[in-house]
Parts: sequence; C-alpha cells; structure tokens
Amino acid sequence: MIADAPAAARLNAPPDTLPARCEVLIVGAGPAGCAAAITLARQGVDVVLVDQHPFPRDKVCGDGLIPDSHNALRKLGVLDEVMTLAQPAGHVRCIGPRGGQIDVPGTLAVLPRKELDLVLCRAAVTAAARMFAPVRFAAPIEEGGRVVGAKLTAGEATHELRADWVLIATGAVPQALMAAGMSQRHTPSGVALRGYVKNPAMVGRIDKLEIVWHRALSPGYGWIFPCRDGVFNVGVGIADSHDEHRDGKLTKKEINLRQVFDDFTRVYAPARELIEGGEWISPLKGAPLRCTLEGARFSRPGLIVTGEAAGSTYSFSGEGIGKALETGILAAEAVLGGRGAGLSEAQVRAQYEAGLLALKPRFDLYARANKVNRHPWLADLLIWRAKKSERLLRRMSGVLNETSNPGHLISFKGILRLFTE
Ligand SMILES: Cc1cc2nc3c(=O)[nH]c(=O)nc-3n(C[C@H](O)[C@H](O)[C@H](O)COP(=O)(O)OP(=O)(O)OC[C@H]3O[C@@H](n4cnc5c(N)ncnc54)[C@H](O)[C@@H]3O)c2cc1C
Repeated sequence: MIADAPAAARLNAPPDTLPARCEVLIVGAGPAGCAAAITLARQGVDVVLVDQHPFPRDKVCGDGLIPDSHNALRKLGVLDEVMTLAQPAGHVRCIGPRGGQIDVPGTLAVLPRKELDLVLCRAAVTAAARMFAPVRFAAPIEEGGRVVGAKLTAGEATHELRADWVLIATGAVPQALMAAGMSQRHTPSGVALRGYVKNPAMVGRIDKLEIVWHRALSPGYGWIFPCRDGVFNVGVGIADSHDEHRDGKLTKKEINLRQVFDDFTRVYAPARELIEGGEWISPLKGAPLRCTLEGARFSRPGLIVTGEAAGSTYSFSGEGIGKALETGILAAEAVLGGRGAGLSEAQVRAQYEAGLLALKPRFDLYARANKVNRHPWLADLLIWRAKKSERLLRRMSGVLNETSNPGHLISFKGILRLFTE
C-alpha cells in the first residue's frame, strides 16, 4: 500500500520529536489539512501536520468522490494515484419514494477514506510536511491579540509549538473549534451513519452511486455506494438533526439513526438484498456533519479555520470531501500570498474569507435543495420531470459537475424552470 518507504517512515512521527517552531501548524490530517499541507510544503513552507489519530485511520464517510473532489485531487497531483485504488462510476442514481429513478451523469468514484486520506497524508509528507500523531490540539497560544502557536497533547505529555500560522482543519467535531474560540455553534448540521457490506453477487447490479428518498427516511436519505472487490458502503443521513428554539438554542431531535437505517432496508429492496445476502465487514458507525459554511468563524489573527470545521460540507447530499480539499487549498494559497506577494496578516485572512464567500452560492443551492430531504415527494416530481426533459437532466448534471452557474438555479425563476421545462 505505501509505495514510498521513506515517506511512509515519516508518517506518524513520535510526538516527543515535535519541534518547538514551524512556519505553519496544521491541525487535522483529513482532506482539508492535507490539501493545505501539500500546497504549502511544495512551495517550501516549513509545515507541521498533526492528527489525534495515527494514519492510516478510518473516517466515517460515504466515500463518494463527486466531480469537485476529482478536480481538487487533480490540482493536488494525486488524482491518478487515487483512481488506481478507487471504484469509478459514471452516474448518481436518484430514487424517489414511489420507486421512480433517474441517472444523473457525472465524473464519480468511491474510495474508502482509510485509503484516500492515506494517499493525501503521504503526499503531504512526500512534499516535506512533517506529520506527527497521535497529537491533539488543546489550545491556542496567544500574544498581543494574535495566535502564535498551539498547546498540543500526546497522552500525558504536553508540548508548545510556535508557528506563524495555525490552521484548524479538525472536521465536524467541535472540540478544537471551541478550544480555539472559533465555534459559533457546537451542534452539528446533520448526522449520518454507515457500514461496509461485502456481497459480490451485487457487483454490476449496483454500479452507480445510489441515493434513495422516502417518507420513512425524511428529513434524510439512504445510500449505497459501490467500492471495489464486491464491497459496498451503505448508510443513511439526516439533515437538520437539531431544532432551533425561539431563544436561539439548538436541541437534538429525537432521531434514532439505527431505526432510520432499518427503515432504509425495509423500504428499499436492493438495500435489504445487499445486507441479507452479504457479510458486514465493518459495523454501522455514526458521525456528525457541519454544512453550508456555517457554525464557525473563518479566521482570527494568526489562525485560519478550514474544511468541514468551517462548515464546508454540502447540506442535502452531505458531500464534503471536494470542498474540504478546495478550502484547504484556498487557505494555503492565502498564506502563500503573505509570503510571496507580501500580503499583511489581515490581507491573508481577507483573501481566504473572500475565497470561501465566493463558494457560498453553491452551498446555498444545496441548502435549498435540502427541501427534498424534508419533502421527499419533491424527489418524485423532479425525477418525473427529468425523465421527460433532457434539458432538465443536463441541468442536474451541470450542478453535480459544477459546470452550471448556481446563481441561475437558486433564483425563483430557476427553481420554477426545474418544474416547468
Ligand atoms: C456518514 C457520512 C457520510 C459522508 N459521505 C460523504 C461522501 O460520500 N462524499 C463526500 O464528499 N463527503 C461525505 N461526507 C462528508 C465528509 O466526510 C467530510 O466533508 C470530510 O471528511 C471533511 O474533511 P475535513 O478534512 O474537513 O475533516 P475530516 O475528514 O473530519 O478530518 C479531520 C481530522 O482532524 C482530526 N482531529 C479532529 N480533532 C482534532 C484535535 N483536537 N487534534 C488533532 N486532530 C484532530 C481528525 O482525527 C481527522 O483526521 C460524509 C460524512 C459522514 C459523517
């Protein structure tokens, strides 16, 4: 698996060898943190990358790589390596409550995160980022109103590491965000759970990324994504897992995700067949999602929040690998601007935040599409319309492939056109 032995040896360097200083400290070695580390280290920046887990590590995910992931992986120069390991697919199959279905064309693939994140982490280390694990971010070090490093922990030991910049790329779990004083909302936007089932008899029968809407799964959906070797990633996700009350407080809804999963196998025969005829090779595990670029401050002096920690996952579909990579690259490019183009600290952060805000229309489009999760009959209507209209199908494919302007689709006229053309 790990072809470059010297790089492999440098993964998970022991915490007691952490340096006292670096240019950029990146906390979290998922897609966002690794994308930033690769981009910075390739430009000669002295990067330290830390993660609370040694790699390779599992990450609860659907493992679906949609077109934005492909584009970002290409930009990082690792797409070919990823595709030698991944299961490619040419369509997302959308299945409505009444069983109607439509196949939306796109450049897609499925690769378990244990493998994807290892490719990314190894690329960061090959680019000369220094990676240490298991190391946890405990708190920022601040001087004169600016973050100048971080307090890190490894077991009982603590370590202070000084850095020009600290990038928080810790995903949907809120602890690091809260410790850094960046969390605006510690509850997630949604929750999801997944497991891996091996069932070689279903190979060829499920060869697309299948997404299923049904009243029993609302406000969410079920999925089956085909990996390699007869293995399938199967799961359910719930958007809007928390209710907002009049006093602004959020409380967890009474949702039993395990029950939703059982309902998925009840209402969708291929899911039932997959599981009854297959073998669980990894049990169901749940995880939170942070969506729509909400829930955290993006930066403060000396510190940048990137990836899902900044809410970079799409609501509606729960896809976030691509935008985690993109926002990690944006953070790195902004920091590089401070080095090369001589941007001030405040200008670096302004450039980064402007980059995130430029992505906002896409996030807003997916937030609106979240209506389908709340009202699954809308999926029936869309599928029915798309079956009759090549143009509508092309439009849906344009959204998936990010070739159409999201601004056109979130206008009232754009939505009306979805149902009328
Ligand atoms: C069930 C489920 C299914 C999903 N399916 C898909 C899908 O099919 N396609 C898709 O594109 N997206 C999917 N997503 C979303 C996707 O998983 C995220 O968008 C993506 O992982 C975000 O990447 P990230 O790098 O920001 O964070 P992460 O991948 O979460 O990485 C964060 C890293 O930070 C580390 N960390 C956290 N706290 C600390 C700390 N205090 N100190 C040190 N390290 C820390 C973690 O160990 C982790 O390695 C799914 C999510 C869920 C929950």
